[in-house]
Amino acid sequence: MSEDLGVSVKREEDFSKWYLDVVRKGNFIDQRSPIKGFDVILPWGYAIWEEIQKRFDTMLKEHDVKNAYFPMFIPEHLIKKEEEHFKGFKAETFVVTEAGGEKLDERLYVRPTSETIMYYMYSLWIRSYKDLPLKINQWNNVIRFDTKVTKPFLRGREFVWSEAHTAHATREDAVEMVNQAVGMYSEIYKMMAIEPLIIVRPQSDTFAGADFSVVFDTLLQDGKVAQGPGTHMLGQHFSKPFNIQYLDKQEKKQYVWQTSWGISTRQLGILIMHHGDDKGAILPPELSPIQVVIVPIMFKGKESVVIEKAKEAEDKIKKLGLRAYLDDRDYTAGFKFNEWELKGVPLRIEIGPRDVEGKEVTVVNRVDNSKTKIKMTDLQEITNLLNEIQGQLLNKSRKFLSENITDAKGLDQLRNLAKKGFWMRANWCGADECEKNIKSECGGAEIRGTLYKKEETPFGKCVYCNKDAKHVVYIAKAY
Ligand SMILES: [Zn+2]
Repeated sequence: MSEDLGVSVKREEDFSKWYLDVVRKGNFIDQRSPIKGFDVILPWGYAIWEEIQKRFDTMLKEHDVKNAYFPMFIPEHLIKKEEEHFKGFKAETFVVTEAGGEKLDERLYVRPTSETIMYYMYSLWIRSYKDLPLKINQWNNVIRFDTKVTKPFLRGREFVWSEAHTAHATREDAVEMVNQAVGMYSEIYKMMAIEPLIIVRPQSDTFAGADFSVVFDTLLQDGKVAQGPGTHMLGQHFSKPFNIQYLDKQEKKQYVWQTSWGISTRQLGILIMHHGDDKGAILPPELSPIQVVIVPIMFKGKESVVIEKAKEAEDKIKKLGLRAYLDDRDYTAGFKFNEWELKGVPLRIEIGPRDVEGKEVTVVNRVDNSKTKIKMTDLQEITNLLNEIQGQLLNKSRKFLSENITDAKGLDQLRNLAKKGFWMRANWCGADECEKNIKSECGGAEIRGTLYKKEETPFGKCVYCNKDAKHVVYIAKAY
């Protein structure tokens, strides 16, 4: 393998460079598009996203959430209706002022998210309690003028996602929807073999216009965390300005209760930065576009018999319902090993003349590099091996999380811990001022929130002001 194709640095030397090498050389993304921050997701990266999509779309349907599509432009007069929400996005919004060579009478905002356009339509559709709940998702792209576009997948100006928006008759129904969405995202994290912290954001940091937000924070190997999907309980913050009302059974007008939730291609960055090693990405079997790659080991005069066996193995594995690929390209076996390791394929099968003679194959686990021999007649064992790798990665993730949460009792300790990164657990009085001060005193490490559905009793006084604490909070630096 040439220098140029491999990962040029180890993670501990330069994590950012390592990550860029993996996503670029592993062909997950191409950042050479002509517009900064607008990257090309390559087939290998997109195929991982498609696995997430397939699973998530199935779950949406199980929860009776319907897919639809809404326009990407929002006229300025609608934006004015919900300035409270929009001010959080204003600095990031692209605005269209011209079309067909003429200046437009009204400026059009390119959606940074779709609340505005969807809720305008919801106000036309919802009339009676019989129209509720209304549960709609769209698979679309959103565009935000993010000023920090350094990390592909994690921060870009356009991303592809699912955004679901629901309307309910009661607050309880809306809260139940939030819980169901959190359940669906938990399933996706199991596919990703990642143990996240599911966190309720402090009020100051909830999504613009939300009552409360539940997010999935993943700890990455460099000690920072990355937020994944967010689920927002919107209360009646949008139904009032948008006048989304229904007649209840007593014929009285009521405002609906709403939720919104989304998951994006950001998950790809999280996946790579969480699981990868110095050789490249490691993809969990449930998400990997190729679960088993078969590499024939060629020796002069034995090519045809090796290829024949490799094809037989590929057929058998595909019949098990697995995603297998026979790599018979004209490269050396060593080159192929490196390339598939870089791309993160969880299981490699090697077949050489000796394996053919022994009527077996050599199987290599991407996570721990362990090798086993499997008889050609026992290839169904591959399914178990893949399940084991999935479990192995999830266990590793759980261990990584539990070993990297440290309690901070006082501000000095918190400051010191923040230098290293990773999760810190501390007591907080709930005051905004303490929250702000913690962030500035701890080099940007911030209160991410409290655990979702798992109340913890404070184990001391507020880490900043030393007054009585109300919450146990989790603190980290975030992407
Ligand atoms: Zn305090």
